[in-house]
Amino acid sequence: MNVYDSEQIEKLLAPSGYKINSSFEAADLIIVNTCAIREKAEQKVFSFLGRLADLKRKRPNLIIGVGGCVAQQEGKKIPERMPHVDLVFGTHAINRLPYLIEKIEAERCKLVDIEMSEVIEELESVIESSLDRSDPKVTSFVTIMRGCDNFCTYCVVPYVRGRETSRFPESIVNEVKCLVKSGVQEVTLLGQNVNSYGKKEKLNSFPQLLARVNEIDGLFRIRFTTSHPKDLSDDLVSAFKNMDKLCNHIHLPVQSGSNKILKKMNRKYSRELYLEKIDKLRNNCPDIAVTSDIIVGFPGETKADFEETLDLIKEVEFDGIFAFKYSDRPNVPAARFTNKIAEQEKKDRLQALLNLQECFTTKKNRALIGTNELVLVEGLSKKKVDRDDAQSKCRYVQWTGRTETNKVVNFIQDEGVIPGDRISKGKIVNVKIEKAYSHSLSGKSVQRFERRTKLCCLKLA
Ligand code: SAH
Ligand code: SF4
Repeated sequence: MNVYDSEQIEKLLAPSGYKINSSFEAADLIIVNTCAIREKAEQKVFSFLGRLADLKRKRPNLIIGVGGCVAQQEGKKIPERMPHVDLVFGTHAINRLPYLIEKIEAERCKLVDIEMSEVIEELESVIESSLDRSDPKVTSFVTIMRGCDNFCTYCVVPYVRGRETSRFPESIVNEVKCLVKSGVQEVTLLGQNVNSYGKKEKLNSFPQLLARVNEIDGLFRIRFTTSHPKDLSDDLVSAFKNMDKLCNHIHLPVQSGSNKILKKMNRKYSRELYLEKIDKLRNNCPDIAVTSDIIVGFPGETKADFEETLDLIKEVEFDGIFAFKYSDRPNVPAARFTNKIAEQEKKDRLQALLNLQECFTTKKNRALIGTNELVLVEGLSKKKVDRDDAQSKCRYVQWTGRTETNKVVNFIQDEGVIPGDRISKGKIVNVKIEKAYSHSLSGKSVQRFERRTKLCCLKLA
């Protein structure tokens, strides 16, 4: 969500002449887009802002702005604590940013704008193709809704991003069309709970929206995140079978395997219901990849509750998980719960859980060795690779991209390709998987009709 917001900020400020600069030492404006979801993310914001004080002393005309969830949460406390900050703008103030910056440029004043509204102001005029990108994007996020009404007891999102509000389907479809025109081949539709898209406003349902996006010519892949298990409908399950552009991957955060903890989290589903949904998804689409989020050390989580989470991981065999130590967030109900878990215990549980999951991730990845996977090329990989060829050991450049199931693949080019078929960013390539690691796969591109060919070697000095 923050990546998308940062991109919106870039687009909004382009007409005022601001461009992304790789060095913040030389920048005229620094915007720190912040995340408040866990304590650690918030601590990072303040240590980073602290480091900018020197820069501001040396260059008083530099404008420093803080946006996002920490800005929304802390408001004027930020410039009080960090006087070198000129602007604080909340999660609903992004559209007002050009005006706020203009005012600071003209009046050299300090501003705090954390007003929230129930209406999403559309950025219709600010389209991807208006940006002069030297390196066009292949894949892009598109926010379809804002905020959340679920109030899970640990979560700060409903407080800092406000009530759930959906964008109009026409506006989403237009944005995707503009992105496709600019070279984007894959979109990830974003919301805190995409399954409830449009319900409040009586717009299209989420599967109906998917069907509209699925019809867009030139778009190759659709992904979405995040789905709340309580709202995962049969129509959405069927969409994985019926919509050709929808990727075989679902991120379905379970948070805990213990019914007692799920209740205390206010998740509104049971372990049994979650497992039922996983069964439905796999019966409908057997090769679907499933990933999840898990919180360890929620207040009152006993060793037995934690064991139930480990059991659930064994039962589901996720393709991957994001796991987090529970941390108190300001004003959320769980911050007031008793029986907090000691930091060391949380660390130990996190490690045990990650160790267990690693076995399943590796197992799933290994099962792909020898198969051919369609990969959307996102660019050159940072790493080069050593391989032996007939004469000598040489280094190859590697390309990187993702499978339909969202697994990262680094690969080298097969020499058998005809020149027009050379790999480049944005191409869809058939890759034979040769090796599996815990977080990625590697292989080489192959001809669709498997000609035996020598490896292409781009020898690097
Ligand atoms: N809307 C998504 C989650 C968004 S937040 C959903 O409902 O699944 C991303 C993840 O951060 C959550 O899934 C949760 O695992 C984690 N998280 C949220 N609040 C947290 C907290 N206080 N401590 C630790 N992890 C937290
Ligand atoms: Fe937070 Fe729960 Fe909403 Fe996800 S569904 S954003 S975890 S309150």
